[in-house]
Amino acid sequence: MHTFAIEGFCDWCQAPKFVTRHEYVDGKCNFSCKECLDFAAMDVRQFNKAELEFRSQQEA
Ligand SMILES: [Zn+2]
Repeated sequence: MHTFAIEGFCDWCQAPKFVTRHEYVDGKCNFSCKECLDFAAMDVRQFNKAELEFRSQQEA
């Protein structure tokens, strides 16, 4: 579940808001506000999927 308890800066709409944290598989993280959550979740999911595919190719 996402909670918007962090007073910060949304990385998607570039505005100071209450945000939630999104973590990437490479250890980075971004923050998104409630309005951007759907976009953010999709971006993060696609990034993580691509990153994991890249890694599995490297290991093969
Ligand atoms: Zn936002």
